[in-house]
Amino acid sequence: MARSWRVKKQRYSLTGELCHHCGSTVFPPRDVCPECAKPAYDPIRLSGKGEVYSFTTVFEAPKGFDAQSPYSLALIKLHEGPMLTAQLTDVEAKDIRIGMPVEMVTRKLSVEGDEGLIQYGYKFRPQMMALAA
Ligand SMILES: [Zn+2]
Repeated sequence: MARSWRVKKQRYSLTGELCHHCGSTVFPPRDVCPECAKPAYDPIRLSGKGEVYSFTTVFEAPKGFDAQSPYSLALIKLHEGPMLTAQLTDVEAKDIRIGMPVEMVTRKLSVEGDEGLIQYGYKFRPQMMALAA
């Protein structure tokens, strides 16, 4: 139960965990710190800002994402340290650069099933300030 609550929460705001033992910022929240393998964390609100660490363009989208392909998938290094994988949005593949500053936005991820249930989640877009600079 705690797990589903945490998963739901992290879709709308980027919440990680701060390890009491080694000070690592953990994302996504886990039961065990990947750095020191000890439990116990405090929730920490992440800035949602980071930079593109690496990226790829996905042409063969998984089921439910077909309408969006091709799309860019990036490994993003957050300011707080953790890495995560997310779709990039509001940017053309040719304009993506390693080290490009990005920020989190909440977007429609996919439409599932006959009822057209829409899933929302986070994606990342270029930071507006950085574009103007
Ligand atoms: Zn730790």
